[in-house]
Amino acid sequence: MTEFLNEQDGKNELQPGTLYLVATPIGNLEDITFRAVRTLRDADLVAAEDTRRTAALLNHLGLKKPLVSYFQHNEKSKGEFLLKKLQEGTIVALVSDAGTPAISDPGEDLVRLCSEHNIPVVPVPGATAAISALISSALPTGRFSFEGFLSVNKKSRREHLLSIQHQPHTMIFYEAPHKLRRTLKDFYALLGDRKIVLARELTKRYEEIIRTTLSEAVKLYAEREPKGEYVLVLEGAQIVPEENEDLNNLTILEHINHYIMLGMDQKEAQKAVAADRGVSKRDIYAELVKQKEGMTE
Ligand code: SAM
Repeated sequence: MTEFLNEQDGKNELQPGTLYLVATPIGNLEDITFRAVRTLRDADLVAAEDTRRTAALLNHLGLKKPLVSYFQHNEKSKGEFLLKKLQEGTIVALVSDAGTPAISDPGEDLVRLCSEHNIPVVPVPGATAAISALISSALPTGRFSFEGFLSVNKKSRREHLLSIQHQPHTMIFYEAPHKLRRTLKDFYALLGDRKIVLARELTKRYEEIIRTTLSEAVKLYAEREPKGEYVLVLEGAQIVPEENEDLNNLTILEHINHYIMLGMDQKEAQKAVAADRGVSKRDIYAELVKQKEGMTE
């Protein structure tokens, strides 16, 4: 059985000289864990991306704490400062503006610095926009990659997109509203038409999950003004027809396993095999049972 810890166990007490990575809500203020609140309450120092924003969150939680700013452009100097504090035994909680620190937010360098100096790092998990979008996308979740923000630099952007062109698994991107149209067009031009899910304003008043295709999304946003925060969840590449011919030389079981290796679950794999071979799912299932019966344990 899973072992759960709770405050009464005593093992949840904060340890001196430890960095706690505390996830905060991505919109809905109720999406903060009891443990996150307790960690913020008991830490000696809260390192925050935007101290004013974090002060507002702490205020909402009824907490008043010493705050230190830690953002992209002072990461190096503030990292050294925080390391020194941790080495002196200070308990530091790191938070970003929203969601999980170190996910397209500052934190990664501080975690590396701490690990290089044997400072314990403890995750206090919670909301992440990427995972919230993925789980509600209805796209395969068995294998996925987080791609972050696309670069604004044309060359790097193109290189990034070409490098993922044939990736068979689901991909997750972050995007700012003013760049959404360009990104949808670039996806469509370089990756072809495929499913895309636009998860907008997650956990907020105007939350919206649009499950569509790239060609439709380009059309939709030609008429509609992109507003709010977006996560884009993109379907992986489909197997090209020439490859299918070779796949049809495999046994049904091997053919199914091929798709499972690409990240599909059993049901999706059977469906894909049926489509490749131009037969019904029922035929595939019957063949599978026959093959399995013939197999030795
Ligand atoms: N660390 C954060 C996390 O754990 O998700 C991500 C921070 S990153 C600087 C901000 C980007 O996350 C936004 O541009 C957007 O793509 C995505 N994002 C954050 N909150 C969101 C929300 N409520 N709905 C949709 N996307 C969101």
